[in-house]
Amino acid sequence: MLVCPVCHGHTIGKVGANRFYCRECCLEFSESRRGLQAYRLDDEGELVQLDRDEWEEYAHSSAPL
Ligand SMILES: [Zn+2]
Repeated sequence: MLVCPVCHGHTIGKVGANRFYCRECCLEFSESRRGLQAYRLDDEGELVQLDRDEWEEYAHSSAPL
């Protein structure tokens, strides 16, 4: 993964075997056979999976962190 699938930013970092982090929208991603999933960190540091329609919100605005 070279480009963030949500905001199309280029500041993607690898944080695990199939995990990536985008500094621009502050989302984490995982790749699996079933496809790509996006996650955000909640206030307690838990990963929360985003629905596809939520991706759109992150694509058009910076993350509220
Ligand atoms: Zn991004």
